[in-house]
Amino acid sequence: MTPVTYLRADSSAAAIALGAADGHRLLGGGTNLIDLMRKGVEQPAVLVDVSGLAAPITEAADGSLVIGAAARNSDVAAHPLVRARYPMLARAILAGASAQIRNMATVGGNLMQRTRCVYFADAAGSRCNKRVPGSGCDALGGFTRYHAILGASPACIATHPSDMAVALVALDARLHLAGADGVRSVALANFHQLPGDSPEVETMLAPGEMILAVELPPVQPMRSTYRKVRDRASYAFALVSVAAGIVVEDGRIADVRIAVGGVAAKPWRAARAEASLRDGPASVEAFVQAAQAELAQADPLPGNAFKVQLAERTLVAVLTDLAGGDA
Ligand SMILES: Cc1cc2nc3c(=O)[nH]c(=O)nc-3n(C[C@H](O)[C@H](O)[C@H](O)COP(=O)(O)OP(=O)(O)OC[C@H]3O[C@@H](n4cnc5c(N)ncnc54)[C@H](O)[C@@H]3O)c2cc1C
Ligand code: SF4
Repeated sequence: MTPVTYLRADSSAAAIALGAADGHRLLGGGTNLIDLMRKGVEQPAVLVDVSGLAAPITEAADGSLVIGAAARNSDVAAHPLVRARYPMLARAILAGASAQIRNMATVGGNLMQRTRCVYFADAAGSRCNKRVPGSGCDALGGFTRYHAILGASPACIATHPSDMAVALVALDARLHLAGADGVRSVALANFHQLPGDSPEVETMLAPGEMILAVELPPVQPMRSTYRKVRDRASYAFALVSVAAGIVVEDGRIADVRIAVGGVAAKPWRAARAEASLRDGPASVEAFVQAAQAELAQADPLPGNAFKVQLAERTLVAVLTDLAGGDA
C-alpha cells in the first residue's frame, strides 16, 4: 500500500471541503475501500473519514424517513420504523455481508461500493475498462457467473453488488447529495449508471459531492419481502435478488413494486413487470407473464444465461408467496 494521509471530518461541510481535492476520498466503514487499496485498485493520497458524522434516522413531518449517510447498516436494519414500515429494507440489509461488516459499513459506503467483478479487483493482471478506461474487459470471454444480463454494454458487464440498494429502489428512495453549491435531491433509481461507453462513470455523484442522507417516502402498507439467491447460504453476493411488495384487493393487484438485484450495473426497477401486473389478477399465470415481460430484455452470455430463468423463477416465487401467505 502507498502512504496515505488520514483526516477526520467533524461535519459534512468539512467533509465536502476536504474531500473535493484530487486524490482525496471519503472513508465510511472502510470495508470496501480499504480492501481495494490493499489490492492496488484504489490509490487515494488522502482519506477523509466521514464515519463519525452524525447519522440520525428521523421521521419528517410528511411521514418520510430520513437516514443519515453515516448510519451503520446494522442500525438501519434494527430501527423500529424501518422494521415496521419498510421490512423489505431490513431484510435486504440482513441478507448482506456478515454481522461484523454490517456493524462497520455505512449507508453511503454501501451505495457507493464498487463491483465485485474479479477482473476489476485484479489490478496486477487483468484488463478492465472500469479501472483503466479503454484498456479492455477480461470478463468478456471469462468468468461471467456474477455478471449482468440486463443493461450491459460491450465495454462492461459488471453488476452492482449492494442488497440494500435493491430494496431502496423498490421503495422509491431519494438521495440528498451535498456539494459546494448546496444540497440536491435525486431519485436513487437514477443514481447508478449503466456502463455504455464509460463504465468508469458509476453514479451521478459530481466531483466534490457526497451522499448526505437517504430519504424513504411513506408507502402504503403492503406485503413485502427481499429474497436473495446465492451460491452459499451466507456471506455471498447475489446471483439474483428480488425486492417486492404488493397490495391485493379482491383478487386484483392494486399496487406493486419490484426491483431486481445481481442482474445489472444498477439495482433494476422491474417497471415492465410492474406495468404488466398493475390492476390485473393476482395469479401465478400473471406473475409468470410479468417476469417474462421484464426478462425479455435480457442479453446474457453463455456463462450467465442461467440467470434469466433464475430471475424469472425467483420473481414468480416471491410474488406467489406475497399474494398467498404471510411475507
Ligand atoms: C466479505 C464481504 C462480503 C460482503 N457481502 C455483501 C453482500 O452480500 N451484500 C452487500 O450489499 N454488501 C456486501 N458487502 C459489501 C459491504 O456491504 C460494503 O463493503 C459496505 O457496505 C461499504 O460500506 P463502507 O461504509 O465500509 O464503505 P467504504 O469502504 O468506507 O467506502 C466505499 C465507497 O463509498 C465512498 N463513500 C463512503 N461514504 C460516502 C458518502 N457519504 N458519500 C459518498 N461516497 C461515500 C467511499 O469513498 C468509497 O468509494 C460485503 C463486504 C465484504 C468485505
Ligand atoms: S466487466 Fe466491467 S468491471 Fe469487470 S473487467 Fe469488464 S470492464 Fe472491468
